[in-house]
Amino acid sequence: MINNASLGEIGRMMLEADTILLFPHVSPDGDALGSCAALCRALRGEGRTAWILLDEPVPEYLSFMDTEYCTEDMDVVNSPDICVCVDCSEESRFADRAGKFNAGKTKICLDHHATSGSFGDYYYIDGEEAATAQIIFKLLKETGLPVSPDVAESIYVGISTDTGSFQHSNTTADTHRITAELFELGIDHTKLVVNLYQSSSYSRLKMESEIMGKMELLSDGRAAMSYVTQEMLDENEALLEDCEGVVDILRNIRGVELAAFLKEKNGEIKVSMRAKSYGNVDSIAVKYGGGGHVKAAGCTLSMSMDEARDLMRRELCEYWEK
Ligand code: 5GP
Ligand code: MN
Repeated sequence: MINNASLGEIGRMMLEADTILLFPHVSPDGDALGSCAALCRALRGEGRTAWILLDEPVPEYLSFMDTEYCTEDMDVVNSPDICVCVDCSEESRFADRAGKFNAGKTKICLDHHATSGSFGDYYYIDGEEAATAQIIFKLLKETGLPVSPDVAESIYVGISTDTGSFQHSNTTADTHRITAELFELGIDHTKLVVNLYQSSSYSRLKMESEIMGKMELLSDGRAAMSYVTQEMLDENEALLEDCEGVVDILRNIRGVELAAFLKEKNGEIKVSMRAKSYGNVDSIAVKYGGGGHVKAAGCTLSMSMDEARDLMRRELCEYWEK
């Protein structure tokens, strides 16, 4: 863990500010948006002006959480007192919003990525936490802020999605203790599970079956790789967000230790990687300017899909030679 302020101190700074802008990472996931939504709701509850600033729409499967907290309007607050980057600690991960972030009078970083360095005027980064949402929960408690059922539900979204429904090795006793508290705070667990995991669209299932058809098993079945192109999405009238979770299907195959899923996005290739039990995909991601965690990491490759597939095939095969 690295920090230059306690969570209580950071929380109190936010309470003393008038305007707070929250910055989740690009292609925000359940943890990035859940953490931001929890913080935003809690701060608004204390009379602060708070917004989650995005440069893309909220993914459909997470939109049930956005009750007018998210905006793409860069001018929603002109000169924010505090800007907080949440679940990311590199400017490259909030891309088009970096200028706005840096316009904050005070910049704060809350994150759980072990590869993160110090970032912002004040930072609290703990790679031991399963989700940034756990850090937000602790921040609210240490600041003495009430955790309403709505806030608790957003925190649950972060924890549940970043732990793969409590399956990943980042899941700890602490994760379960926090989750037990969320239940006691009145979350609607069925609503959350249905929204997150039981609302697959037809186009999503069609995409999954097409992607599975393109899967390659490498290194005697110890690695699995597949990909999706814009053309494949267009043909199925699907969106990239319909492929969320596909990398986990690849990893779930018996005998597979490493999984890589390549996605074409804005002319670049976004690589999502997972390890099952002893592998380390962070070491691969870091080689290409990315990062994440030992068992879940990613990077972006500026090359064609064919080149990216060749590169990742080589990486996955060479992994076992080390
Ligand atoms: P996902 O595969 O779900 O997109 O990402 C898995 C993990 O790797 C997440 O914790 C995510 O934040 C991290 N990650 C994904 N892509 C990148 C990247 O390009 N750079 C960094 N530093 N981390 C990434
Ligand atoms: Mn996270």
